[in-house]
Amino acid sequence: MIEASIPADEQQRLAALRAMQLLDTPPDPHIDALLRIAQRLFGVGSALVSLIDTDRQWFKGRIGATNLEGPRNVSFCGHTILSDDILYVQDAHADERFFDNPAVTGYPFVRFYAGIALHAPDGSRIGSFCVHDTAPRELTDSEREAMGDFQQLLEALFVAHQLRMDAAWLQEALGAAERRALIDPLTQLWNRQGLRTMLPAIISRAEREGLLVGFVYGDLDHFKRINDERGHAGGDQVLIQAGQRMVATIRPHDLALRLGGEELAVLALVQGQDELDTVAERLRESFCRHAFELEDGPLEVTISLGTALAAAQDVDGAAQNLIARADAALYRAKREGRNRVVRG
Ligand code: GH3
Ligand code: MG
Ligand code: MG
Repeated sequence: MIEASIPADEQQRLAALRAMQLLDTPPDPHIDALLRIAQRLFGVGSALVSLIDTDRQWFKGRIGATNLEGPRNVSFCGHTILSDDILYVQDAHADERFFDNPAVTGYPFVRFYAGIALHAPDGSRIGSFCVHDTAPRELTDSEREAMGDFQQLLEALFVAHQLRMDAAWLQEALGAAERRALIDPLTQLWNRQGLRTMLPAIISRAEREGLLVGFVYGDLDHFKRINDERGHAGGDQVLIQAGQRMVATIRPHDLALRLGGEELAVLALVQGQDELDTVAERLRESFCRHAFELEDGPLEVTISLGTALAAAQDVDGAAQNLIARADAALYRAKREGRNRVVRG
């Protein structure tokens, strides 16, 4: 195996990557949508946006893949960012750089790989767009051209993402290192600590803009059965895709959370109960509208939801009371037959 070398402009490259505020952030619905198109267009198992940090690759977007990060030195994408040429590996088993790579000999068992560098506005190669599959195959001329199109669109989405991050809750000036502890490594959603950290800024925004704080507490229905029938890895895939559906459904300023296990939540600033009901109902529909795609075939997944609403000044530092009320409503949603929203 040949390890990826460190590019000459490494320090500037890392500074450009940090400035983009992409590392250790939740899934981006537009990047996910593009990657789903790529997965279908190339007919591959996985399509990813990989960012190359000091000694890890971290996936801003991952369709058909489970891991959120991996070591840089054995990554394919670490090679891809060394040049502006497409890195194309027709069959990793026959490639001296990769034949004994842990991603080839073990999960995700890469045989075919094609990747192209993604740039920050200053031209630094901060990561890559790549597709890979467990079977060897050729990359056609028209697919090469498509890779250039995906590169262009993803770089535009990076800039849009950065503008949003500047404008949103990360005014809190959380650095990537701090954010890392606040993001759940399976779903890429904010965890409980993330909620606690973000809450003061959200509450002051609610006060400033005269909005109420809404909480939607969700729990996947019959998740134990899903684990039993599709295995723990299948269950994990459901949780990852659940997170992706959530961020695609909520508004940009709402916070998507994983509170534990298969318990998901949204913190949303709203004008009133009707608006919160809409947030919850859209979430419920986004789960049952069409099946989740697992490796061994589609799966119907539903979610039960409870809501609670409070004035900003009544929300404590951990939102305990608000969460408890939404949880009680969720309990009723379960009892009343699941796949429904109950007002708390
Ligand atoms: P209900 O409709 O009443 O919510 O039933 P349920 O089966 O979803 O509820 P229950 O709380 O009994 O089961 C939750 C299961 O979630 C049990 C646990 O093993 C599983 N689980 C928790 N965390 C994870 C995880 O990270 N990955 C996977 N695959 N399973 C998890
Ligand atoms: Mg459940
Ligand atoms: Mg549960």
